[in-house]
Amino acid sequence: MTTPKAEPVPESERKAIASEPQRRWLDAELAPLPALEDAEGTHLPTQLPPVVDAHVHLFPPRVFAAIWRWFENHAWPIRYKLQSQQVIDFLFQRGVSRFVALHYAHKPGMARALNQYVAELCRAEPRIIGLATVMPGEPGAAEILKEAFASGLKGVKLHCHVQCFSPDEERLEPIYRACEDAGLAVIIHAGREPSSQHYHCDTHQLCSAERIERVVRSHPRLKLCVPHLGADEFDTYQRLIERYDNLWLDTTMAIADYFPAPVPIDLIRARPERILYGTDFPNLPYAWDRELRRLTELRLPADAEAKILGQNALSLFE
Ligand SMILES: [Zn+2]
Repeated sequence: MTTPKAEPVPESERKAIASEPQRRWLDAELAPLPALEDAEGTHLPTQLPPVVDAHVHLFPPRVFAAIWRWFENHAWPIRYKLQSQQVIDFLFQRGVSRFVALHYAHKPGMARALNQYVAELCRAEPRIIGLATVMPGEPGAAEILKEAFASGLKGVKLHCHVQCFSPDEERLEPIYRACEDAGLAVIIHAGREPSSQHYHCDTHQLCSAERIERVVRSHPRLKLCVPHLGADEFDTYQRLIERYDNLWLDTTMAIADYFPAPVPIDLIRARPERILYGTDFPNLPYAWDRELRRLTELRLPADAEAKILGQNALSLFE
């Protein structure tokens, strides 16, 4: 166990910020947020059940470099500037048993090359579960996904902030249909936060739990997973996972106690069979195992913990 050396924002200020309803997590006066420089473990604790990280990023070097530049200017410093093979070695050497690899295209015409890149990494290392990317509305979107699924990718990752779309837009239909037909999941960053004025769109206009409810209600066959526990509409997402059987949430960065908002403990306890442990590694400003430590400190019942740490991800993606 280790204690973080620094808090991103003083506790008193964090509370004040969290109580402002219109406050965005990466507001100009807050971002970039500071690195934590907290101590990290060299291995997962041995008594843990198998750990599957459901939210890891792999990109070709040039894309990683562009993403890290953006993060360091507008979001937070990147502690682990590791290329894909180093990410793979890092996590498996530390005892992570499987992980889900995510990537995203931020303009049309990129998806095929990115999908081939990740599919190749998955062929070389079968412990990686790779997902595809596609730009909503780009020509041949359904075809791009069919090819990606045929190459072994196990679903698709969409990002409302980076790709500038709403989850309930018409141009999403071919993507949802391709995933329904293949029985594969969609991971969709559809929470409003962390929002930044440096995205090319207003994430609070594009994203809402209400829009996601519209999608899960009108697509009962679609398996949908929203990262970051749906940040920051935690209460509404709790109601949604209690109500819908085709919705999952991943914990990514939302329980690390890093952002100026309360950690949604009740949401995790509400329906643990719908929650996936995920980290956003390597794009982190703190220790790779910080979120895992926070999760185990909750002392959840052993079966709930085993599901969150790995079983849920395997049953959703495998
Ligand atoms: Zn991510």
